[in-house]
Amino acid sequence: MREKVNIVWLKRDLRLKDHLPLKTAIEQGAQTLLVYIFEPSVIADPHYDIRHWRFVYQSLMDINMQLEKYKAKVYCFYNEVSEVFDHLTELFDVSTVYSYMETGLRVTYNRDKVFSSYCQKHNIQWSEYQQNGVERRRRNRKDWSKAWHRFMELPLDDPDWSLFRPPTDGLERLKERIPDEITINDDSFQIGGETKAWSYLFSFFNGRAKSYSFDISKPLKSRKSCSRLSPYIAWGNLSIRQVYQEYCKAVQVRPYNKALHNFASRLRWHCHFIQKFEMEDAMEFRNINRGFNAIKRNINEAYFHAWQYGKTGYPLVDACMRCLIQTGYINFRMRAMTLSFLTQHLWQDWKEGAVWLAKQFLDFEPGIHYPQVQMQAGVTGINTVRIYNPVKQSKENDADGSFIKTYVPELESLPIECIHEPWLMTPMEQGFYGVNIGKDYPLPIIDLKEAGREARDKIWSMQKDPAVRIEAQRILKRHTTHNRKV
Ligand SMILES: Cc1cc2nc3c(=O)[nH]c(=O)nc-3n(C[C@H](O)[C@H](O)[C@H](O)COP(=O)(O)OP(=O)(O)OC[C@H]3O[C@@H](n4cnc5c(N)ncnc54)[C@H](O)[C@@H]3O)c2cc1C
Repeated sequence: MREKVNIVWLKRDLRLKDHLPLKTAIEQGAQTLLVYIFEPSVIADPHYDIRHWRFVYQSLMDINMQLEKYKAKVYCFYNEVSEVFDHLTELFDVSTVYSYMETGLRVTYNRDKVFSSYCQKHNIQWSEYQQNGVERRRRNRKDWSKAWHRFMELPLDDPDWSLFRPPTDGLERLKERIPDEITINDDSFQIGGETKAWSYLFSFFNGRAKSYSFDISKPLKSRKSCSRLSPYIAWGNLSIRQVYQEYCKAVQVRPYNKALHNFASRLRWHCHFIQKFEMEDAMEFRNINRGFNAIKRNINEAYFHAWQYGKTGYPLVDACMRCLIQTGYINFRMRAMTLSFLTQHLWQDWKEGAVWLAKQFLDFEPGIHYPQVQMQAGVTGINTVRIYNPVKQSKENDADGSFIKTYVPELESLPIECIHEPWLMTPMEQGFYGVNIGKDYPLPIIDLKEAGREARDKIWSMQKDPAVRIEAQRILKRHTTHNRKV
């Protein structure tokens, strides 16, 4: 006879504390199996890269290390969810599956629909829980902020591990599999797992946060002064509530509490954006403001390729794009600038850019990513459109050119006065510094002033378009908390 078990299906919630599905399952007192599924269809989705799955693997190994003392582990599979459950139900009498709700891409939404029918057919109960203050089936933002604060202040859902009971039979017949490529460490990226997450959190609150507000927009300094918690939050090594509650303790005792307040607002933004995507996930495919569908963007493969690989001739844009490929991280201002450069100056569609950036961001979080991309591309109709000038950003935020020199080594020999606009160097200067602009490093692919002016004219004239304004009213009503005007 098959043993009755409950299953905790881990997804983007790779931690052992503040975990309601785990807590509920364990405290039911029944045998519990922890499962992670590497799904080929999700892995193949173009938003994802091997860097993401390595981070997930590292997080799972960290969990397993912590579970050794309970003689337990997470069982890992490589197959589609229904196939894995076919295997599990062969070995066990699966009664309930516990998981968090996922506000994800269409690929995981469709997977969840299929799994829901699977559960009905096989008489399995699927209990899903709300994560990070993001609510399902909300129709507007009335009292959303209050509800968010209430959720953040609730006690943490820490499971009582002394009650944990693994299955006693059938475990040895589980056919686990993790593709080899996923198990390789690459320390150019942040390493996944709760242990690392907490050490980033403490080093931030205990000191790094001091210069948070000064360095937040600087591409190099922000790498140390920002929390760098984003991949740990995105993959659930930390819940927003854990971070928020640690912030509440830190702010009592740290002299730099203004920086900590600035940081805390971003924790709310995190959920605010995901809530938006939860309520309008078609944003993955189309402008949230349909009025902007009338704008036609060119497709220029050469421009797109130059942007992707950091060969636009604008040093700060190029440094950012190359840094992303190498490390999976750039700060907020640089994300906004690179996206604005693609969609405004190069006048390319945001969709392909969104997918490319998602693939590079180790912290890719669909619910933040798509609303941010659309905001920076200027297609919401409710936000002020900001077209970032990469030369101005470079002079202000990488004044000594050290970020550029790190990621664009062709320009390493240039003095500060040439690094931000190398195309202005005379042939004699180029000879002197040993850099031939147009050969060793590209000439700018567009004229910044002209492209910026054209984009501004087009976008701003669209803001007045009646179709854009009608949609803007709809967006305000659905997605904002107070009576904002366009
Ligand atoms: C085009 C674009 C795409 C983005 N895509 C993502 C994404 O896929 N995943 C992601 O986590 N962030 C995304 N962001 C938001 C932001 O850039 C990152 O969260 C931040 O840079 C992460 O660094 P940090 O952890 O050091 O941030 P900190 O400044 O230390 O902030 C702490 C946490 O607050 C949240 N946060 C910070 N800034 C924002 C913001 N503007 N909006 C929402 N939440 C925020 C994040 O969870 C972050 O980890 C995007 C921004 C832009 C402009």
